[in-house]
Parts: sequence; C-alpha cells; structure tokens
Amino acid sequence: MVVVIGGGASGLGVAWDLTLRGIPVTVVEAEEIGAGTSGRFHGLLHSGGRYVISDPVSARQCHEENRILRRIVPTAIEDTGGYFVAVGDDTAYEEAWRKAMDQAGIPAVFVNREVLAARLPGLNPEQRGGYWVPDAILEGFRLLYLLRDNVMSHGGTILTHSRVVAVHEHNGCVSGVTLRTPEGLREIACSAVVNAAGPWAGEVARLFEDPLPMHLASGVMLLFAHRRVPVVVNRLAYPGDGDILVPHGETVILGTTDVHQPYPEPPVPTRDDVAALIARGQLLFPEMTEWRALRAFAGVRPLYASQHGASSRSVSRDFAVVDHGARVGFAGAFSLVGGKWTTFRLMAERTGDAVAQFLGIQAACRTAETPLLPSQSTRRGSPSPIVCECEGVTADDLVAWISSSPEEWRARTWWAMGPCQGTMCVHRGLALTAPSDVSEWRRQLKWVREERERGFWPAAYGDNAREFQLQTAVRYQTLGEGEAHAAL
Ligand SMILES: Cc1cc2nc3c(=O)[nH]c(=O)nc-3n(C[C@H](O)[C@H](O)[C@H](O)COP(=O)(O)OP(=O)(O)OC[C@H]3O[C@@H](n4cnc5c(N)ncnc54)[C@H](O)[C@@H]3O)c2cc1C
Repeated sequence: MVVVIGGGASGLGVAWDLTLRGIPVTVVEAEEIGAGTSGRFHGLLHSGGRYVISDPVSARQCHEENRILRRIVPTAIEDTGGYFVAVGDDTAYEEAWRKAMDQAGIPAVFVNREVLAARLPGLNPEQRGGYWVPDAILEGFRLLYLLRDNVMSHGGTILTHSRVVAVHEHNGCVSGVTLRTPEGLREIACSAVVNAAGPWAGEVARLFEDPLPMHLASGVMLLFAHRRVPVVVNRLAYPGDGDILVPHGETVILGTTDVHQPYPEPPVPTRDDVAALIARGQLLFPEMTEWRALRAFAGVRPLYASQHGASSRSVSRDFAVVDHGARVGFAGAFSLVGGKWTTFRLMAERTGDAVAQFLGIQAACRTAETPLLPSQSTRRGSPSPIVCECEGVTADDLVAWISSSPEEWRARTWWAMGPCQGTMCVHRGLALTAPSDVSEWRRQLKWVREERERGFWPAAYGDNAREFQLQTAVRYQTLGEGEAHAAL
C-alpha cells in the first residue's frame, strides 16, 4: 500500500498512475479535493509559449503534455486556442520568442492586427498583431474529480478532511502514517509514502526529517463577470503581472501577481493587488476598469528552490521527484515538488516510476494512453429545470451529487459561480437537499455565502459595489438571510 499525501493535481495524478500499475493506494487530503493551489489557478492548459524564453525545459514539457491531455481528458479541456498579443515596441523579445518557439517545435501562427482586433473586441489599438498558439482552457475541478472518481473505481481509497501528522519507519523503511481526522487519530500501515502536498510539501518533508528548500510565491487573480474574451489571451512579453486572460464559462480570469512569501497558506487579496492587476491588464484591454469584477482570489506556487533564481519568475517551473531514502535513509519516502498543472501527468509518471522501482514492481506507466472516463454526468445537458441560470446548471445536475457537500456540488457543477454569484440559486440548490435539520441548512447557507464573499471586498468598486449592494438587499430583505444567519 502507498499513501499519497495531498488531493491536488499532483497527488491525484500520482494515485491514478500507481492505480493503473496495479499498486494499492490511499490518498489523504487535509481538507477537500482541490483545496490547495490546484483549485486556485488560472485554468490555462499551457502551450509552452509563456515559458519558452524564461524556462524552455518546462515549455517543452507543457507542449508535450498539452497534446497528451487533449487525448485522454477531452471533457476537461475547452480547446479555444490562444493568442500572444504584441503591444509596445519590444520587437527584440518578439524575435527571440519566435525563434524559441520554432526550436521547441511549438506552433505559433502570425495573425495581423486587423484580424486580431476583430477577434478580440476592446483590444489595445496600439497592438502590433500577434500569434495563435495551442493554448486551451483546463477545467481544473472537473479534471480533479475525474481523477478522484477513476482512482476510486479502480479500487483506490480517498480520505478527505484527514491530515497526515506523522510518518513512521521500521528499520529505516516507511511502515505507516498517522492521520488526524474529525473522529480522532488513525493509523494506516503502508510501505511507501508520496508527499504531494504542494505548498505544504516543505512542512510534510519535515516528517521525514529532511526539510526541502521550497520557494513559495503567491499569485492573485481577478474574476470578471461575462466572457470578455473568446479565447486565452497572453501579452507577448517576459512573464509578468496581469498578462494572461483565461475565459471560463460565463466569466474570465485575469492573472496574476507573483510575490514571494514564507508560508504556504494563500494570502487574502487586497485592493492594491486588484488595482495593480488591472493597471497591467489595461495594456491589453484599456477599458478594463469598466469591466465588472466579481471577486479576487489567490493561490501559492509550490516551486522547488534547489536552483534559486533572483525572483519567483525566474525559479524554474520544472519539477523534481525527491527520494528521501537516498538523501537521509528514510526508504520509501518520496516528495514530488514544483511543476505546473499542465504537467501533472508527467510529474506523476516520474514519481510512479520511482515508487514502482522501490517496491520492486515491474509495471510501466499507462496514463498517457488511458482515457479518464466520467463516472456520471456532472454538468449540463439534462432536461430538468434550471437551478443556476448563469451557468446553466439543472436540478438533475445537482441531485446527482446530493449526498456530497455544497463545496463539492459547486466544484463539480459550477453552481453559484457565475456573474450573479449565487444570489437566488444558492437557495434553490440548498432546497434540493430538503434537509430535515434546518440548522444544518442554515450552516450550509452561511458557509456558501462566506466562501463567495471572501474574495469580493478587494474587488468592490464602481458598478460592482452597487451590484453587490443590490444582491445583499435581495438576500437579506427578500430572502430573509439575516434571520437565517442570526438563528445559528
Ligand atoms: C496564481 C497561480 C496560477 C497558476 N496558473 C496555472 C495555470 O494556468 N496553468 C498551469 O498549468 N499551472 C498553473 N499554476 C500552477 C499549478 O496550479 C500548481 O503547480 C498545481 O496546482 C500544484 O498542485 P499540487 O497538487 O502540487 O498542490 P496543491 O493543489 O496545493 O495540493 C496539495 C494538497 O495537499 C494538502 N495537504 C497539505 N498538507 C497535508 C497533510 N499534512 N496531510 C494531508 N494533506 C495535506 C493540501 O490541503 C492540498 O490540497 C498556477 C499557480 C498559481 C499559484
């Protein structure tokens, strides 16, 4: 049995890889699936174009994995393509970028400024044209739940709300872990452990008495109402703040900042973060201050700092599989650190190779050829009444997950995630659970509201602030939420 610590892209990817090799696996996640960085990212399936100058190794990995993921998980990818738009007069960077794309074998097709202006209304009129690249949209939660469901249907176990607090060894080999669960401490025997704890990987590695040099960098992103761009849009420049837009459903995400921080928890975005992002974003879309911002959120990059760069942007997006047996004699303990969401499958493959070799199991990786099949329809397309108008989520879509938490409903269906941020549909959705326990219903309502509002305040300006006041009035005066919260 192998215990994988972390229910993000890396941990679930490793669990899927090991499961297909016939190795029994248990994933232990401290919170919910996708609670870490994997649920707090842009949602860009990189073509490699962004890193082709700053980090060519990672760029090539992204390009190769982009092609594999389109094959094995088409239901979690929206193949929009993307543009790199040239603004300003840095023609030297453009020239170097084009050459690097050629060398890396990543397609980039020139698009003149007239065509670009027609495809991207509102684009800075001073743009000089751009390049089409095979970027795409990666629906992170959809892929996480596909991984989870497939691991479980192949016999794996996934434990959420369970934190690994100790790793045990016997004669220098991993023998088990201790978990803290809502019911108390629990022991699981195992012969190997994979630390895939993302930004927390440094802390988890201390359980092997082998701290890892992590470089943690937070990134703030801003969600706008309405799909302002039809495809992924990047600024053609060395990676910087506010230079990517990724559409998702009826919204679009602008990202990101990049600030080194010493702790793994994501920071609460500030109004200054939002103002700085928009100021940079205006280089692409000058009218961005008029767009309606819905909320800001942040994630933390779990970069591996074995090769220090001068800044977060220059630390490699490559990854490492660390063998703590070779380093400090804790045999069977491995850490997977660094990388990107786009490269999670390759990262899992390399980790699976190391673990299988340690266990003496000769089974090759099969993830590149094995499609991840949906276990059950999770989104859209069913004829039952619409519950969430913004995202087109029906009653059947939600009822399919009736026994899970509202957090899982939200992540699986996108219920309450659109422009109205769940003003009315939160009530309709929670009503479907028809709880006999009213205080549980109130608790869920409060949780959903707090979760949505957390990111709102940094983006509360102009029309958006007025819209929020209107929503609040509807919620408190029409729907009586004040009484529900007060009764708790
Ligand atoms: C702002 C930002 C934007 C990004 N955008 C993109 C993008 O567009 N495209 C892309 O390809 N990549 C992107 N990335 C990178 C990508 O999101 C990350 O590389 C990836 O999500 C990391 O996944 P992970 O599984 O390693 O970590 P996480 O998703 O953080 O998972 C680690 C999990 O471990 C759990 N955990 C921690 N400690 C314990 C413990 N003791 N016991 C049990 N569980 C534990 C945590 O709760 C967490 O859920 C972005 C990153 C950031 C910060």
